[in-house]
Amino acid sequence: MLREIVYFGDPVLRKKCASVELSDEHKALADDMIETMREAHGVGLAAPQIGIPIQMAVVDVSHDPECLSFLRLNGSDAELADIMPLVFVNPELEFGDEKATDSEGCLSIPDIRADVIRPEHLTAHLTLLDGSKITVECDGLLARAIQHEVDHLNGVLFIDRIKATAKARIRTTLRKFQQEYKESQRRKSWKK
Ligand SMILES: [Zn+2]
Repeated sequence: MLREIVYFGDPVLRKKCASVELSDEHKALADDMIETMREAHGVGLAAPQIGIPIQMAVVDVSHDPECLSFLRLNGSDAELADIMPLVFVNPELEFGDEKATDSEGCLSIPDIRADVIRPEHLTAHLTLLDGSKITVECDGLLARAIQHEVDHLNGVLFIDRIKATAKARIRTTLRKFQQEYKESQRRKSWKK
């Protein structure tokens, strides 16, 4: 089932998300999140982006097998297709020292892209829906997408990580999103 994506201005995007105790409901939620992400042509979606502030996210970069230079699953070389779409809860991340810059966007902040500097190499300790724990080591778009989604679980958005000059350029658009959220809340309270 498609879920409604919430946009910048909604306070749920700024919440520190609760850790997940897995139940069968999370499998249905994961299916919905994957469907919603694909429909919106995203490479990742975090639960707060559909209004649910829990530490759960989906990532799928399988459209571009060349988007990373290495991938290890639990210490062994792995293929992207082996772990995509990746659905995880309660992530813990470790970073290498080297940084990489690339353009990012976000389904909750449509039509805005900006360069974000992030650690290039990532070690992600993730819990899968069956409760098993995996360690993913990677770089490239997968490392970036996982970091972007885990930021969401901490109430952090990519626009918090861009240069002040880039932020100044998008200020008006961001204000518009905030205004639209306020108006949508006002309309809801009238209906009650
Ligand atoms: Zn995002």
